[in-house]
Amino acid sequence: MSIKIGDFVIGGPDFTVIAGPCSIESEEQFRTTSLGVKKSGAAALRGGIWKMRTSPTAFQGLGSSSFDFIKKVKAEAGMPLVSEVTDIRQIEEIHSFVDAFQVGARNMHNYSLLKELGKQEKPVLLKRNFSAFIDEWLKAADYVTAGGNTNVILCERGIRTFETATRNTLDLNAVVYAKKHSSFPVIVDPSHAVGISDLVPQLCYASAAAGADGLIIEVHPNPRVALSDGQQALTLETFDQMMIQLEKVLFAFDRKLQRNNNSAVRMLKNV
Ligand code: PEP
Ligand code: MN
Repeated sequence: MSIKIGDFVIGGPDFTVIAGPCSIESEEQFRTTSLGVKKSGAAALRGGIWKMRTSPTAFQGLGSSSFDFIKKVKAEAGMPLVSEVTDIRQIEEIHSFVDAFQVGARNMHNYSLLKELGKQEKPVLLKRNFSAFIDEWLKAADYVTAGGNTNVILCERGIRTFETATRNTLDLNAVVYAKKHSSFPVIVDPSHAVGISDLVPQLCYASAAAGADGLIIEVHPNPRVALSDGQQALTLETFDQMMIQLEKVLFAFDRKLQRNNNSAVRMLKNV
């Protein structure tokens, strides 16, 4: 099954990269990131408006004060936007300018949120909870489709294992299993899976080789000053380098990247 986010098809033969900041922090940060990831070939933007933080004193997102500039930047970039809803009421609030609703890992079991998203038409990007069995993740997707919205994109974002060297453990088993046993497109979030920016590119390549339909990646123009998840954000430069290598991996599997910037396939220039 393939699903559209804006003009891009996820789950078809081509590969889709969604990129942007963990949190939308300011107009300038969102604009620089959006135009930068577009230049490198990302198809769609990500960016958190409300954040589910472990500590109540950590940055919680700009909320409704950011809506006006988000619309402006999105229009300038000409890119679709994926953003998380942490509460049923937020669906209506951002419905007019968001192209897909993200359900965060912590809300994968929030069945009232899933039921409400089942009444929508826009796609739902459903993250796997870090402690969820694959079966629980697939059943969470069924909560959305039961309401009539069949546009679910599954997202593997790392699970908790005994390992503490990395933030989580990317479960590529889950990606290949869900591709085989469900009809939904499956994408990978390597940023939350590993939690260390230097290691993110390798997981991007591995995900593409494993047959994922796309990636959702955290990028920040200056990760050192990021208000959330700076340790795992790619800079615009490292994102660009990763995209060049990613196209080579996809090429090896007879696949191509769906680009938003209409540039020629760059790998031909770079091999
Ligand atoms: C995020 O995408 O920034 C996020 C909070 O992800 P997750 O829900 O997977 O932790
Ligand atoms: Mn994050």
